[in-house]
Formats: sequence, structure tokens, C-alpha cells
Amino acid sequence: MLEIDRPLGAATQPDSSFVPTVEPLLSVQGLRTHFPTRRGLVKVLDGLSFDVLPGQIMGLVGETGSGKSVTGASILRILKKPGRIAGGAIWLHGRNLAALSEKQMREIRGTEIAMIFQNPRAALNPLLTIGQLLTQTLRYRRGMTAQQARDEAIRLLGSVHIPDPEQRLSVYPHQLSGGMCQRVMIALALSCNPQLLIADEPTTGLDVTTQYQIVQLLKELRTQRGTAQIVITHDLAMAAELCDVIAVMYAGEIVELATVAEIFGQPRHPYTQGLLRSRPKLGQSGALPVIPGNVPNPLKPPTGCRFHPRCPLATEICREQMPPRQPIGAGHEVACHHWEQTL
Ligand code: SF4
Repeated sequence: MLEIDRPLGAATQPDSSFVPTVEPLLSVQGLRTHFPTRRGLVKVLDGLSFDVLPGQIMGLVGETGSGKSVTGASILRILKKPGRIAGGAIWLHGRNLAALSEKQMREIRGTEIAMIFQNPRAALNPLLTIGQLLTQTLRYRRGMTAQQARDEAIRLLGSVHIPDPEQRLSVYPHQLSGGMCQRVMIALALSCNPQLLIADEPTTGLDVTTQYQIVQLLKELRTQRGTAQIVITHDLAMAAELCDVIAVMYAGEIVELATVAEIFGQPRHPYTQGLLRSRPKLGQSGALPVIPGNVPNPLKPPTGCRFHPRCPLATEICREQMPPRQPIGAGHEVACHHWEQTL
């Protein structure tokens, strides 16, 4: 975790260089991703909707099992079997990614949308040197000559602040630290100038200093290249440092969506409030407050609001009717029947 004592409301303000535009770069509409299993149909995502604007950094936060990583995998259509997109649309430049063929998606992966993962060492082919990994991608994807690919590989490694980039071309992933491997992953992801980068827990497992450096690098990508990003994380402090907007996910749904300043300063969903209360703070002693109960079994989600078994404000309507996500202020949306009582 990058920083543990950020006071509520003092979250990093959105980068002033970011100017929202009306047309989203990516628009996810009513996305349903299901996993048929022997025990029944697991509806991991069941009607997920959100937009990402050009150059915007959106954080997807929530507990393990909330559907964050499945959201990223659905957008890129790299779901593990037996997962499948059962409905909804994923719009990018007028094309619905959910309806494209696998061949069309292969063209989009890496060129228009790229993804980086946690544990980058495991994601890099251990049999290839860093130079081979990069030059093969550049030659295949961008049709470069061997010399052009080598020059571009050095430039890319330099752009992600890898020292002595020329020397690094001949090393293997296992010879690099976790932080350096993540930088290589980012260089690979950037090799085709994608407009959208999906970063799935990009700092998990890294030491605090390296976490900070990776976050600064991701910010730089947006500032210098205008790369929009979806950052999937359980680390609220990292999301506060990096993102413009945050979507809080619970049991496959977005329960609150707002700017970083609103989420940290004026959270309105009881789940968001519980998440924020359970963050460690500097100087705090004793046990941290926790949200009682567990994320629901996706085979048998609760009726009505999926958070109702854990919610201190739950009433009859919560148990019976799923609350729609509704706007409650500029860019602030919440899915709660009683959000006005959470002030
Ligand atoms: Fe809690 Fe009801 Fe709001 Fe759900 S709808 S979060 S149960 S108050």
C-alpha cells in the first residue's frame, strides 16, 4: 500500500491536465459475464455499465470476488474458460467488442487496448530475452525491420525509466527485479501505442518504493501519451493517488461511481464508507473496523440489494428491490435506496 494516512477528503485532486470530453473512448453497457459450472450458473457480472473518457484514469476497486478482474478480462475477451459474455456491449470506436470474432479481437489486443498484470515476471516468456520479447512484438505488430525494432525497443525501455536500456536487451526476465519486470510489461504494452491500458493490480507484490515509481510511470503515460487507463486494484490509497474517477464494485455491480475527491470526501454508499473505514491509518492502534460478513456466494446472490446482509441501513425495500444506480450530483452516481441517510 502506497500511503496509509491520507485523510478523507484530502485525496489527490484529478490531474489538472486532464480535460474530459463528451464522447467516451470505451463504453461498457449492461455487460453480463457468466461462468456455467456444475453447481450452477455463476453470474460474475450481471449488467455492468460504465464509460471511460479519452485520457481518463478510472479505478475499479472492491474486495476480492467483486468482479474487477473479470471486467478487465471481458473487455479484452481473454476470459478463462468456461467464462463467456452472455449479454451487453463493449463499445470502442463504434465497434462492439463483445460481438467481434476472435480474429478481429487479436487485432485489437495490444494495438488499441493493452493489459498489464500483477506478477509480471510470470507474464513474461522466461525463454526470451527482454530484447527478443520487445523486438518480436514490434516486428510482428508494427512491421519494423530488425534494426528499427531494436532502436524502438531501446527507446521504449528508456521511456519507462529502465536504466542502461541497451544492456537490458540481452537479459532474461528472471534476471530482473519485480519492479523492472513490470516496467518491461508496460514497455511491451506501449509498443503499439494503445489508447487504453488495463492495469490489473499493477503494484501488488512490489515494495513500497517500487509501487510509488510504477504509479508515477502510469501517471506519466497519461500526461505524455494521453493513454486512458482502467486500474483494477484493492488498494484505495493507490487509486486515490492515480485515478481521476473511481468505480466501487460489489458482487459484480458498480455501487458507486464518482471522482476521487467525491469518493474519498463524500462517499454515499454504505459499502464505500465501510471500505474507507477499514483502511489502515498512521498512528492508529487496535483492530481496524471491518465490514461484517462476506462477499455473497455468486451462485446464490441475495435478493434486492446484494449488500443488504452486510448493511447497517438495510430495510425491507433493500431486501426486495435492487436499487438502480442513479445520479446524485455532478458525475456522482450511487446504487442505494437510502443514500440520503448516509450523509
Ligand atoms: Fe444498504 Fe439498502 Fe443501500 Fe443496499 S440499498 S446499500 S442494503 S441501505
